[in-house]
Amino acid sequence: MELNFPLIEKNILKFWKDNDIFKKLRKKNQDKERWSFLDGPITANNPMGVHHAWGRTYKDLFQRYKAMQGFDQRFQNGFDCQGLWVEVEVEKELGFKTKKDIEKYGIAPFVEKCKERVIKYSKVQTEQSIRLGQWMDWDNSYYTMSDENNYAIWSFLKTCWQKGMLYKGKDVVPWCIRCGTAISEHEILTEEYKEIIHKAIYFKLPVIGKKNTFFLVWTTTPWTLPSNVALAVSSKLDYVEIENKNKEVFILLENKKDLIPEGKILKKFPGKELDGLEYKGMFDELSAVKKSLKSKHKVILWKDVTGEEGTGIVHIAPGCGKEDFQLSKEFNLSVINPTDDESRYNKGFDFLEGKLVAEVNDLIFENLEKKKIVYKIEDYKHRYPTCWRCKEELIFRLVDEWYISMEKPRKPLMEVAEKIKWIPSFGLERELDWLKNMQDWLISKKRYWGLSLPIYECSCGNFEVIGSKEELEERAVEGWEEFENHSPHRPWVDKVKIKCGKCGKKISRILDVGNPWLDAGIVPFSTMGYFNNKEYWKKWFPADFICESFPGQFKNWFYSLIVMSTVLEDTFPAKTIFGYASVRDEKGEEMHKSKGNAIWFDDAVEKIGVEPMRWMYGRQNPALNLKFGYGAAEEIKRKLLTLWNSFVFLLTYVNKEEIISLNSQLSRNNLLDKWIVSKLNNLIEKVTKSLDKYNAASASSAIEDFFINDLSLWYIRRSRKRFQKPDSPEEKKEAAKILYFVLLNLIKLISPFMPFLSEEMYLKLKSEGMPESIHLYDWPKSEKELVDEKLEEKMVKVREIVTLALTERAKLAIKVRQPLKELIIADTDFKKEKELLDLIKEEVNVKKISFGKELKLDTKISSALKEEGMVREIIRNIQELRKKTGLKPEDKILVGYSGDSELEKIIYKNKKSVLEEARVKDLIKGGKETFDAEKTIKVGEKEIHLAIKKN
Ligand SMILES: [Zn+2]
Ligand SMILES: [Zn+2]
Repeated sequence: MELNFPLIEKNILKFWKDNDIFKKLRKKNQDKERWSFLDGPITANNPMGVHHAWGRTYKDLFQRYKAMQGFDQRFQNGFDCQGLWVEVEVEKELGFKTKKDIEKYGIAPFVEKCKERVIKYSKVQTEQSIRLGQWMDWDNSYYTMSDENNYAIWSFLKTCWQKGMLYKGKDVVPWCIRCGTAISEHEILTEEYKEIIHKAIYFKLPVIGKKNTFFLVWTTTPWTLPSNVALAVSSKLDYVEIENKNKEVFILLENKKDLIPEGKILKKFPGKELDGLEYKGMFDELSAVKKSLKSKHKVILWKDVTGEEGTGIVHIAPGCGKEDFQLSKEFNLSVINPTDDESRYNKGFDFLEGKLVAEVNDLIFENLEKKKIVYKIEDYKHRYPTCWRCKEELIFRLVDEWYISMEKPRKPLMEVAEKIKWIPSFGLERELDWLKNMQDWLISKKRYWGLSLPIYECSCGNFEVIGSKEELEERAVEGWEEFENHSPHRPWVDKVKIKCGKCGKKISRILDVGNPWLDAGIVPFSTMGYFNNKEYWKKWFPADFICESFPGQFKNWFYSLIVMSTVLEDTFPAKTIFGYASVRDEKGEEMHKSKGNAIWFDDAVEKIGVEPMRWMYGRQNPALNLKFGYGAAEEIKRKLLTLWNSFVFLLTYVNKEEIISLNSQLSRNNLLDKWIVSKLNNLIEKVTKSLDKYNAASASSAIEDFFINDLSLWYIRRSRKRFQKPDSPEEKKEAAKILYFVLLNLIKLISPFMPFLSEEMYLKLKSEGMPESIHLYDWPKSEKELVDEKLEEKMVKVREIVTLALTERAKLAIKVRQPLKELIIADTDFKKEKELLDLIKEEVNVKKISFGKELKLDTKISSALKEEGMVREIIRNIQELRKKTGLKPEDKILVGYSGDSELEKIIYKNKKSVLEEARVKDLIKGGKETFDAEKTIKVGEKEIHLAIKKN
């Protein structure tokens, strides 16, 4: 029986479908105690990747485990639908470059395209997940673009507004030029910082009132220079005045004095002496600068100035930098905002007007060269933030955006986070760290496909938030009919106008859409009926378990879940939050389409099969990145093959009719049987405890250790004789019963991890009266009275002795098949237990065991022992030939032999044992018949030709 995973998996998928196994499972647990899993929505924007498959394996594994324990569950999958990620893909599809292209195309058809894309990929992902073996109520998946979900967020935002937490603020925010929108701080993860080479410029600004003296200043963002209003220095660090050959005096940080070669230091002083000095601006001739500049350019003191890069004199442009904007409030500096929504220079910037900020470096340099203030220009490599969707570099822009204030809820949020069990435990620390340092939540985006923020703003200064569709209808004074039958998306919802609650003017919705993490954060409420079926919601909220990849989620989904749950109910959304790391390639590097090291889910499934992937995912420590690849998969396959071979072993020696009788009362007379059953019960206990703690890695490593080291390498290995050459039919039956019992329970333990393989094995072991599927079994319980710790300890010693003795043999290059006279072992507490000593004797292949001070192997080989070894070698080769021809153990064969005369003699002399042990009907010297298989073997230095034929 070949272990062809894809083939097995497809057959089992059909079996499940044809027999409604999942439905039967749900029915079995209906109305029993609940276990509430809440699915974090997958973005339905592309086919799923092998990294999604990791998380989905966990989700499926724990749901299956809880189902076997009898818990009722919702089995609801979620799709994340709205947001920039979908827009960017649709823009690519349509060949769009900027927002203008979208507006030209029409917002309505564009939004429809986004919906279509989501529907398309939600179907693809559903099929892929089914292929992965994931059991979900697929017809009941939730979509964050649903009316239900969007209106739920409206209700949440209204609550925020009523609590005074919602406001419109001016701030300098990260902004993507291409996407034309602000990027919230939450969305910029460490991996969004890329090594980028920028042009850095050193320039000199004349100090007013000091002849021939200049501040030496440095920047990597030349486009912000027209907005310069001040220079910042450190009050504590030391600065110098330094003169060059041309008698120009520069002011800069002392430890940067090398920037002025052969300079002569005139004066050294602390930075605070520079406070308030004035200088001549670079672009004072621009009309926009003239208009906005309220006071003269001057030096300010700022504690964040360091001596690490630049000159220690920092260019400050409050219209283009976050900290700069803060400083403008503190020092009452002018704010010169250079750009519009398309990141082009505003009117009044003369030679720059209408130019994209990303394209003006040369113009600026040229202008400054003319003014003779360029000191030098060079390439500068640094880490710089990029857009998480389109990977373009971000700039910083002064804009009006909408925020949820996080000052008041900060402490309650942290208290709620502490009530959650975080796995791995460092999750709590990371979440608290974020909550402690986060700024207000920027929730608006100047885009098209997303939650329509239900904010209505009036020129009188009033703004109001609408909390539901019904409320909007009630307040509508225009456009309701045009909107009524549409989803609450742009552009339809924008038709509706309401009356300002303060001044009565007709007002519109602000055009912004919402941050997508609002969409995902509301799901413990929207999908569980918080707004329309509180009874149901109370049954399932909070979730017992959620599971997502943690890079990013502390700032994103976990965060939005906690915020929304705290604002609405002042409680935690889930009892346990389980996070796992990232999937990397086999070298540990990030997978990228462009790098050529990405592996697609569909390819992986066809090449590897689902089960080795699921096993790889299950046994991984979730705190560490998973190195995924075909090499790693081969290793896993080899392990699984060991399990499969144990199963095949049973089926080789026991036929279908016999199997039926195996499922009966056990008798455990044999010591090995007692041992493996004891081990099994310990395993059940260990796996159960681990899975109760959501520790799939420790559960699977225990299972793996069991099926490789205990079952295959010891139990079956040492029980072969009972199957192959039993002293009585009863002996074989007894052994078979135990192996059957162990395998059946083992595959129950494995079934949440590898639902296909376990089912395949089960269906072959199943007989009348047993459940239809392994997945309809109850989770096995460990039986204490079957555990024999003493025996297990003794077996550990037995195996240690064997390992030592075999190592000794290997050192001396004596094959295990060569019987030896005696093994002397140290005195043990099982000196009198023949069965244990026999295990050692057989495994080490010695005639006798004696006791002494230490382990010692008698390696003298008498001629009798040598002959026995040769016979064993010949028997083994006959058996290998049998295997090669696919003969069953009960098939009798004829063996022909010819070759070295001494070997021929030995065979003839030992005919009886060869006939018996290799199940041979007769031995024929020479043999001219046509044989099924043959080979020439080497025994010691001599050769003999063997051939076999079925008789
Ligand atoms: Zn972008
Ligand atoms: Zn008004």
